[in-house]
Amino acid sequence: MLYIGIDVGGTNLKAGLVNEKGEILATEKTPLGAFPGPEGFARTLAGLAEAVLRKGGAALEEIEYVGIGIPGAVSGGEILYTANIPMAHVPMEKLFRRHLDLPLLLGNDADCAAVGEWSCGAGRGTKNFVVVTLGTGIGGGLILNGKLHTGMGAGGEVGHIVIVSGGAPCNCGRRGCWEAYASATGLIRLTREAMAAHPESALHMIAAENGGVEGRTAFQAAQMGDETALALCGDYARYLAAGVTDLVNILHPEAVALGGGVAAAPEQLLLEPVRDIVARECYARHTDQVPRIVRAELGNDAGIIGAALLGRAI
Ligand SMILES: [Zn+2]
Repeated sequence: MLYIGIDVGGTNLKAGLVNEKGEILATEKTPLGAFPGPEGFARTLAGLAEAVLRKGGAALEEIEYVGIGIPGAVSGGEILYTANIPMAHVPMEKLFRRHLDLPLLLGNDADCAAVGEWSCGAGRGTKNFVVVTLGTGIGGGLILNGKLHTGMGAGGEVGHIVIVSGGAPCNCGRRGCWEAYASATGLIRLTREAMAAHPESALHMIAAENGGVEGRTAFQAAQMGDETALALCGDYARYLAAGVTDLVNILHPEAVALGGGVAAAPEQLLLEPVRDIVARECYARHTDQVPRIVRAELGNDAGIIGAALLGRAI
């Protein structure tokens, strides 16, 4: 059997024709553009699925279902809520099947990334697995006993656990959320604060060379031995490890995979200190079963592969 996975991103809709091994056989994409309303959106999704089907030379009968990763919350065939796109309580499977008569599975985008990594990336062979994606925010996907855990639909929003009571404001309305400190956006804020306090730091030079402060600015300056940047990277690793340790304490998974651009930072500046802190602080250290903390492996393809293989985890 074959599957179609669609990743609904902030600017593009990307579709892939995927086989049972999680290999992408063909891809298509279309700009998200101005939102045409739920009916028009369903038509766009169906058109994209048909386009990737044609491109991959597959027949409709070979497709088991279409899986879609959405930035928001879903339940069954219904979209409960989406960030960035104005949709609430939309019966998407019903609308989609008016244009293309295939079963439609809906998932949250971070959950789809987790399913992708679990099926054929960093979480292969595990029963309990967590993916944390460090981007504009923090996305989380939880695989528990081989199934995606979403609660009533909006569970697994790990970015909004509070790690600093009364701390920095978060987009969700709370203060001190993990996302406000350990996302790429949080790291950029911490970098700007360190620069303001340390005019002598090499952070200024690197930011000027790259046309502004980025998620990697801190790591680049730290690799040059800049003391402010080294301290900043240490602070960032502690914030990241605080949330990872909380997840480990609640779920005790076999592995936690970190994805997103920031996770590509040099191992000794990020993954190693995070591993050390989690190993020292998590409750499971008493059991000698400290989870592996690893990098996600599938990059931008995780969303498409995970949407396509969603049926294995729900
Ligand atoms: Zn929040």
